[in-house]
Amino acid sequence: PTRAEITYFGAGPALLPTDVLETASQALLNYNDTGLGIAEHSHRSELATNIINEAKADLASYLDFSANDYEVIFLQGGGTGEFAASVYNLVGAWVARQHAAVLNELGASADEAAVVAALRERVEKHLKVDYIVTGGWSLKAYQEALRLLGPEYVNLAADARTINDGKFGKIPDQSTWKLSEDAAMVYYCDNETVDGVEFPEFPAVLAPRADGSGPIVVADMSSNILSRRVPVSNYSLLFFGAQKNLGSTGVTVAVLKKSLLPPTITQPSPALLRKLGLPVPPIVLQYEIVAKNNSLYNTLSIFDVYIAGQVLKRLLRTYPNKVDGQQAVSEKKASIIYAALEAHPEVYRVVPDKSVRSRMNICFRVTKNGNVDEAEKAFLKEATSQGLTGLKGHRSVGGIRASNYNSIPLEGAEKLAKFIEAFAKV
Ligand code: PLP
Repeated sequence: PTRAEITYFGAGPALLPTDVLETASQALLNYNDTGLGIAEHSHRSELATNIINEAKADLASYLDFSANDYEVIFLQGGGTGEFAASVYNLVGAWVARQHAAVLNELGASADEAAVVAALRERVEKHLKVDYIVTGGWSLKAYQEALRLLGPEYVNLAADARTINDGKFGKIPDQSTWKLSEDAAMVYYCDNETVDGVEFPEFPAVLAPRADGSGPIVVADMSSNILSRRVPVSNYSLLFFGAQKNLGSTGVTVAVLKKSLLPPTITQPSPALLRKLGLPVPPIVLQYEIVAKNNSLYNTLSIFDVYIAGQVLKRLLRTYPNKVDGQQAVSEKKASIIYAALEAHPEVYRVVPDKSVRSRMNICFRVTKNGNVDEAEKAFLKEATSQGLTGLKGHRSVGGIRASNYNSIPLEGAEKLAKFIEAFAKV
C-alpha cells in the first residue's frame, strides 16, 4: 500500500506528519543549500545550535511555560534513560540541600568527617524517592530506582494493581497515597502507553502549597506530551521520548526547573556520593553538565532535533491557540472512538476504568460468540485490509490498542470509529 492509504495507530514509533517527512527528506540530502545533509553537519556548527535553540523556544511557546524558569535539554537513552537520570539528579539535589543544611547547622568550619557523618545519618534516616505505580512504565521506573538505590530508599507510595485484582486500569484515590516526608521526588507516569491509563489532570495532592513549597514532582509524559495543557510550574522535571507526539526516535527531552541547576543547586561530587554509599551518575545523564553545554556535551542527533522542531513549527502554524487547539482535537478524536466502542458493549470492552482512560492509547478487548482470541484476530485482519494498521495491543497485555497521537488526523479517528461500528454489526 502507499502511505496515503494507511492510517497507522502504532504506539511508538508513531506516525509522523507527511509534509514534515517530505521537507526532512530534502534536508537529509542538502540542508538549506549548504550541499551537506542535516545529519552530516557538525553538532557544533552554528546551524545546529540554531536548530536546538529554535526547538527549545518553540516548545516553551507551544506549551506556554517560561524559559526563564525552565531549562529544556535534549538527551539520548530514551524514556528508559530518564528512569535512571531522574533518580540520580533528584537524589543529588536532595543531598545538595541536606549538605547545605548540615553546613548551616555545624558551621562552615566544621571538619569534613563530622559533615559526612551528619549527612550520612540524614541519608540513612530520611532519603526516599516516592513512586506512584499506575501501569507498566511507572512500574519499570520504580524497578530502576530499586536497582540503582536499593529498596531502603525507594517508597512504593501507591500501586494501582492493589485496587484492581492485580491488574492496572485504575488510579488509587490520592488520599491513600503514602507519600514520604521531604521525598527527593514523587514520580508518576502521566499516560501509561501499555495500559491505556491517563491521569485526568494534575494530581491535586502534589500541588504546590500557598507558600510555594511542596513535593518535588517528576512525570513521564512520553506518550501524551503536546496533546494537552500541562501546568509546567507544578513540576520539577518532566520528560518525554520524542517518538510518539514529538518526532523521530533518537532524542529525549527533559524540561527541568532551573532552580535545580547551578547556581542554586550543584550536584554533589562523586567522592561525596561514594562516602554516602550513593551511586555516582554517568556523566551523560547529569542534567547539570548537559544543560551547561546546551545539550551538546556529547554528539547529539541534530536530525532528530530538527524533526522535532519541524513538528513543533507545524503545530504552532496549525493552532493559533497552541496546545489548547491540539487538546480540543485530541479530546474530540478520543471521544469519537470511545463512543463507537461504548455503542456495542456486547462486542467491545474498554480495558481501563472510564475515569482514567487515556485519550492517547485506547485499549479494548473484542468478543464475539464468547471468543476473544478469534474475534481480535478477525478485527485486526479486517482493519488492516481497510488500511487501519498498528492496532495490536502491547505483547504484555494483548487485546487491541489504538494509539491516537497528534499525527492521527480527525478523519483517521472517524474512519476507525466507523470500522468499529461496522465490525460489531457483522
Ligand atoms: N515511558 C513511556 C510512557 C513509554 O511509552 C515508553 C515507551 O514506549 C517509555 C517510557 C520508554 O521509552 P524508550 O523506549 O524510549 O526508552
